[in-house]
Amino acid sequence: MLPQAKVRNMIIDYGCEITMAMNLNSHFSRILVGVVLAWAQALLPVSAAPLEYTLTPQKVADNTYLVQGKRESFSRLNGGNIVNTAFVITKEGVVVIDSGPSKRYGEALRAAIQRVTDVPVTDLFLTHHHPDHFLGNQAFTDVRIWALPKTGQLIAEQGNDLATNLYGLVGDWMRGTEVAMPNKPIEQVEFSLGGHTFQLIPLKGHTGADLALFDTRTQVLFAGDMIFYQRALATPNTPGLKTWIEEMSVVEGLNARQVIPGHGPVVEPESALTQMREYLTWLDQLLTESAEAGLTMNEVINQPIPKQFQEIALTQYELMRTVFHLYADYESAAF
Ligand SMILES: [Zn+2]
Repeated sequence: MLPQAKVRNMIIDYGCEITMAMNLNSHFSRILVGVVLAWAQALLPVSAAPLEYTLTPQKVADNTYLVQGKRESFSRLNGGNIVNTAFVITKEGVVVIDSGPSKRYGEALRAAIQRVTDVPVTDLFLTHHHPDHFLGNQAFTDVRIWALPKTGQLIAEQGNDLATNLYGLVGDWMRGTEVAMPNKPIEQVEFSLGGHTFQLIPLKGHTGADLALFDTRTQVLFAGDMIFYQRALATPNTPGLKTWIEEMSVVEGLNARQVIPGHGPVVEPESALTQMREYLTWLDQLLTESAEAGLTMNEVINQPIPKQFQEIALTQYELMRTVFHLYADYESAAF
């Protein structure tokens, strides 16, 4: 990532994180105050409380467990445990989906798996290169770590910067965390182990390289961040909302019996898929119509969130980030 882009993303992350809670009216004062507060926070002494992730696997289907993260953004209180990870116990090994935000999380995840089963972990699949999904890899370097080739490339290019950024946001939870690369590029369309066969579905909508896994035995879809539920979707690396919306048809076409989103709880698939499609469509329309009407970024950020989305966490925060990331493209398209 270019240094300029990196600084911009860090400012957006820090600024949005801290200032949304302050409900300031001027967008730029929000950002400014946020940056100052984030820097001040970084200088605070590390909390004396033990930094322990409490991970409780929840059985969602035969042999299939979800470890659900909080519906929050990164903070020093949650240690980055805002992401869903999952695992499937097969007869020949445990298949893990995503390793979490830090070395410490990866170790806690591995311990949580071992509390459920004696079957050894053999395979880890990474859904994409966002730091909350792969920085727990260090706890899995003795197993096959699978990722789409482009995801591997993005981790190689951006992993260190993403880890540094996350250190800034969650602090000491990240101690000892370093990038551990995936070691198995996904070049096949299926993966079978111990009686489970997973379709490996390459998508692009969330980051340009997004893996969804569909377990044909249980009909569970591990959607990664292609699906957010009750937590606003994040757009910093999307190739475009229209691409994402188009790929919803692929996800919907699987007719999954259960969908595990990258963030948020598990519900019956229709609710999660409908909310995701409607939210993406609203966001795309809002940006299109705002650009056509010549609205400023500040005006778009302050547009009301429709009532139907008010139960979704972090809508205002993610809208602000989305406007920063994508609005210029919509403005160019409009003029
Ligand atoms: Zn993501």
